[in-house]
Amino acid sequence: MRQDQEDPYQRRSAQVYAAADRAAGSVASPRPVLYDAVLLDRDGTLIEDVPYNGDPEKVRPVPGARAALDRLRAAGLRLAVVTNQSGLARGYFTGEQMRAVHARVEELLGRFDAWLVCPHDDADGCDCRKPAPGLVYAAARELGTTPSRCVLVGDIGRDVGAAMAAGAAGVLVPTPVTRQEEVAAAGWVATDLPAAVAEILRRQQAVQPSTPPTEPVRTALVVRSDSAGDVLVTGPAIRAVAAGAERVVLLCGPRGRAAANLLPGVDEIIEHPLPWIDPAPGPVDPEAMRSLSARLGAVGADQAVVFTSFHQSALPLALLLRMAGINRIAAISDDYPGSLLDIRHRVPVGVPEPERALSLAAAAGHRLPDGDEPVLRLRRDAVPPRPADVGDPGYVVLHPGSAASSRACPPEVATRIVGALADAGHRVLVTGGPDERAVTARVAAAGGTDLGGRTDLAGLAAIVADASAVVVGNTGPAHLAAAAGVPVVSLFAPTVPFGQWGPYRVPTVRLGDAAAPCRDTRAASCPVPGHPCLSGVDPGDVVDALRTLAVSGGGGR
Ligand SMILES: [Zn+2]
Repeated sequence: MRQDQEDPYQRRSAQVYAAADRAAGSVASPRPVLYDAVLLDRDGTLIEDVPYNGDPEKVRPVPGARAALDRLRAAGLRLAVVTNQSGLARGYFTGEQMRAVHARVEELLGRFDAWLVCPHDDADGCDCRKPAPGLVYAAARELGTTPSRCVLVGDIGRDVGAAMAAGAAGVLVPTPVTRQEEVAAAGWVATDLPAAVAEILRRQQAVQPSTPPTEPVRTALVVRSDSAGDVLVTGPAIRAVAAGAERVVLLCGPRGRAAANLLPGVDEIIEHPLPWIDPAPGPVDPEAMRSLSARLGAVGADQAVVFTSFHQSALPLALLLRMAGINRIAAISDDYPGSLLDIRHRVPVGVPEPERALSLAAAAGHRLPDGDEPVLRLRRDAVPPRPADVGDPGYVVLHPGSAASSRACPPEVATRIVGALADAGHRVLVTGGPDERAVTARVAAAGGTDLGGRTDLAGLAAIVADASAVVVGNTGPAHLAAAAGVPVVSLFAPTVPFGQWGPYRVPTVRLGDAAAPCRDTRAASCPVPGHPCLSGVDPGDVVDALRTLAVSGGGGR
C-alpha cells in the first residue's frame, strides 16, 4: 500500500500542538515537481539552541535565517516548524511561555504556516518525538500535502531520522554539537541554513525544464545500462520523457532487462550489453558495436537521452548514437563531450539518482506531468499475482543478498535478525535469487519462510508489494519496495552515497555503520576484513526500526 494513501499516525493519538487557527491553503499552481513544503527544526536550526528556553528575549536566529526563509516563501513553499520540546513534559516552562517564544520567532523570522510540537520526553514512548515520524506526518497533514513532498531541515540525527521514517527528505545542517556518526549517516548535509535552502531550491528548479523541446519528439530513445536497481531509479525520468514523446524505446543491458520490463512509459526495449559500463566487461567486439549502432539507427529516434550513474561515462554510447544518425543527444557529462552531446548536463554529487535523472530529462525539455509524483513506480500489468502459499499480506520481507557482496547482509547477521523478528511476532519471508538458495535456507531456518530462488524480479515485486516492510541492503529489492510504497529498513553499506542510492520517497530507517572504511569505495566485494559496515547491525535495532515505521508484529501495521 502506498504510504501517501495511508498515514499510520492518523489512527493514533499522537499529541501534537498544531496551529489550528491556520487552515492549509491551496498549493500554488503549476505544482512543483519535488516539494510543497519545508519543515524546520527549531533549536539549533532556526534559532540558537538555548536549552529549555521559555524566555522570548533569549531568541537569537541563526545567521541568514530570515533571508533564507523568505526565499522559500517567495518560491511558494509552505513552512512548518517541527520541534521536540520535552521541557513541557518536564515542567521547565509552560505552554504559555513556549507560545511567547514562538511569537518572538515569528516576529524575527516571519510567519510559519504551522507549528508542530512534541511535548513528551523519550520515556513517554510517544509517536511524535523525533526521530519518530509523527510530527512530520502531522505537519504534512496541516499543510495539505504528504510527507514525500516535504523536506525537513534539522541539526541532529533525530531530525533526519524523523524525516526519513516518514518518507520525507532530510537535510542535516550540523552544528558543533552534532555527532560525527550523525553527519556520516545523513544522506544530505549542508553547511548552514542558507546553504540548505539554496540546495532545496536548486533541486526543485533542476527538475523543471526552463524551455520545452525545440522540436516535437516523436520517438525518444532512452538509455539505462547496468543492473535492476539502476533501471528502477531511472523510472521517474523515463516517465517524464514519455510524457513529452509519442514513443519511448529503452536501451538496457541484460542485468537490467527484468526491471525494464516493469517500467511504465516504455513502449519497446532493446537489450544489449555495453562493455564500458559492466563491472566484469567482455571485450569490445567491433561487429557487435556495428550491429548495435545499426539497430539504434533503425529506431528512428529524434532525441536520445542517455542516463548514467555518476561514475559512468555516456560518451562512448553518444559516439555510437551519432554514428547511428541521431542528432539530438542529451547526457550528464563532466568530461568534455566535444560534439558528441547537444545537451551536456551536469549535476552536483549527492543528488538522489531519481532526481539526478529527472534533471537530465528536464534539461532535454521534459517534466513529469501534474499528477505523476516523482516516485518509483511499476507497471501493474507486469507484476504477477502474489503466490497464495506465502500467506496473507502483512509479513516482513528479509532480503539478505545482493549482486555485489559488499552490499549484502552477512548471513549470520541476517539469521539473527530473522530470529529477533520472529520473537517479536513478525512473520518473515526470506527472499533471494536462485544463486542465493543456500543463504536463504540457512537464514530462514531461524524462524522465517524460505522463498530463495522461488521468484523472478516481477514475482519478487509482487511479494514485496504486500509486505508491511522490507529489510534489505542497497540492492534492487529496496527499490522495488520504494516503488510499492512499502517501508524499508535499509541495511546500507556505505560503498556509495546513501543520499544518492537510499530508498527514494518511502519511509526508511537506515542501519549499519555509515562511517565504515568501505565508505565511498564503490567496492563490489567488501575491501575490509569482517564486512564491518553491516556485521555490527544489532537485530534489536531492526525490531525497533519496524516499530518506528509503525510496523507491528502479528501482521498489521
Ligand atoms: Zn511526542
